[in-house]
Amino acid sequence: MIKKVLIANRGEIGLRILRACKALDIKTVAVYSEVDRDLMHVRLADESVCIGSNPSSESYLNIPRLISACEITGADAVHPGYGFLAENAGFCEQLERSGFIFVGPSADTIRQMGDKVSAIQMAKSLGLPTVPGSGGPLPEDIQKIHAIADGVGYPIIIKAAAGGGGKGMRVVNTARELENAVQLTRNEAEAAFGSGVVYLEKFLTHPRHIEVQVLGDGRGHAVHLGNRDCSMQRRHQKVLEEGMAPDLPEQAVADILDCCVRASRQMSYRGAGTFEFLYEAGCFYFIEMNTRIQVEHPVTEMITGVDLVTQQLLIAATGQLALQQEHISFNGHAIECRINAEDSESFMPSPGKVTHFHAPGGIGVRTDSHLYNGYQVPPFYDSMIAKIITHAHSRAEAIRRMQIALDEVCIEGIQTNIALQQKILADQGFQKGGSNIHYLEQHLLRDPMLQDHAL
Ligand code: ADP
Repeated sequence: MIKKVLIANRGEIGLRILRACKALDIKTVAVYSEVDRDLMHVRLADESVCIGSNPSSESYLNIPRLISACEITGADAVHPGYGFLAENAGFCEQLERSGFIFVGPSADTIRQMGDKVSAIQMAKSLGLPTVPGSGGPLPEDIQKIHAIADGVGYPIIIKAAAGGGGKGMRVVNTARELENAVQLTRNEAEAAFGSGVVYLEKFLTHPRHIEVQVLGDGRGHAVHLGNRDCSMQRRHQKVLEEGMAPDLPEQAVADILDCCVRASRQMSYRGAGTFEFLYEAGCFYFIEMNTRIQVEHPVTEMITGVDLVTQQLLIAATGQLALQQEHISFNGHAIECRINAEDSESFMPSPGKVTHFHAPGGIGVRTDSHLYNGYQVPPFYDSMIAKIITHAHSRAEAIRRMQIALDEVCIEGIQTNIALQQKILADQGFQKGGSNIHYLEQHLLRDPMLQDHAL
């Protein structure tokens, strides 16, 4: 069994991991950058180690310092959370080489799925439906690229193989724009991700983003925990998530869930993972797999009652997944609103001191947040400061609970996107369910600043 876990993350997920460790009687080590000394989970951890200065590259992304922190504290495992080094195969490898357990899949799986081209090839070989496209890296020869694009049919989207976080993508509507767009995306990808490899896909004009949560033991046993709908997006970033996805054909959902379980079993997937799909006109298309816990995992926890972070730790500790598919049942509907420290209108980050914080409560309301009165939100990291999750028998009730929770929550001293979340919840189109990924930008954010970013 794991005795001590080093939490290689910060913020709400740092606290989330700490809580799961405590529930399993596992000791915790929090690591932090200088500015993060007063983080909630740093205060609550059994031990804490400052690993460097504020830029992530000097702290949360610094592998040698994290490994030193493991050695100094005698931790036997590392939970990477999401972001930072969570999908860094080299980190996983170096930890394992130094004798520490990485709470997540094998380095090989992370590497394979981290490259979107090889992930798509893997998905195809495992029988998952993929978006029509180049199926591999684009060649250098522009005539050949034209032939591929013509075969797929416009509009298309050019994507960086190493891309992530909604970056490194460009939509191309006509053949005239193709050459320039390929070059620009290559340059941007090279600068942002250190690899100029790009591929192309059919650009689906009104898809929904549906994803499937899985757990696997790394030895061929795997289960699914239903799906989530993450179509409410701004600039390809998720804003509000819910599960199960409303208004989908039952058989198509059952088929895709089965497909994901079979794929996870065939690849001997270890730990928690998410298959991401676009869904349009009755069909699912795989776009990528996330080999880590996701921000929106509480949605699944609320409808299944399964603690996903605890499951991750148990799999890492024992190599076993005790859950069988028939143990997992789905109850009611859950919604998560991401609360960011940003201006509701301009979306500019709004770091600063939280002069007053009050979390909402009541039946079916969960708040995952590291905030407290007087906490100083630093400007160096992601602006997400809280997740509010509501659960109820029906989607309509979960929406109502969320509206009440958002009326109740109090975050003073900084700007937040709560007004935007309230606008989404009050919107008739959202309430109907089944909106596509462009809905938020097209219907609720008619901001001229967004026009040049139409995708
Ligand atoms: P990232 O790894 O950066 O999150 P994804 O491949 O998951 O990138 O895509 C992020 C978002 O971009 C999707 O949720 C969707 O909104 C949009 N997108 C990606 N591929 C396509 C496509 N082929 N057609 C339309 N939209 C797409």
